[in-house]
Amino acid sequence: MSTNADCIFCKIVLNQIPAKIADANDQVIAFHDLTPRAPTHILIIPRDHISSVNDLSRSTASVLADMTLMAQKLAKEADLSESGYRIVMNTGKNAGQTVFHLHMHLLGGRPMDWPPG
Ligand code: 5GP
Ligand code: ZN
Repeated sequence: MSTNADCIFCKIVLNQIPAKIADANDQVIAFHDLTPRAPTHILIIPRDHISSVNDLSRSTASVLADMTLMAQKLAKEADLSESGYRIVMNTGKNAGQTVFHLHMHLLGGRPMDWPPG
């Protein structure tokens, strides 16, 4: 497993800082966002350090399937499957990415604007 000593999400993966874990398996971990922007706001990350979508390759992109299926499961558990939810992967400065460890936001529980601001 590749980790980055300076990465806050790697520290969550390694149990070096606390997080409210929602689910986990061999590939991915899900935990509640520290600053929730919706009634449900969960971050889903690969255990491996990958900085962003920019750094995915054919050999690592399969983790996106694991992340998406975990989002689907958590959305179902939060009773969002019918009401709807949003999966977001901010990439780079203009999109507002602040943590450079690949992550999926799972947001739901309220109506959301489109397009996002
Ligand atoms: P980004 O802005 O990079 O798309 O999303 C990063 C997210 O990580 C933000 O929503 C922010 O609130 C969340 N976050 C940053 N640091 C921590 C932390 O230490 N713990 C948790 N649970 N969430 C964090
Ligand atoms: Zn990391």
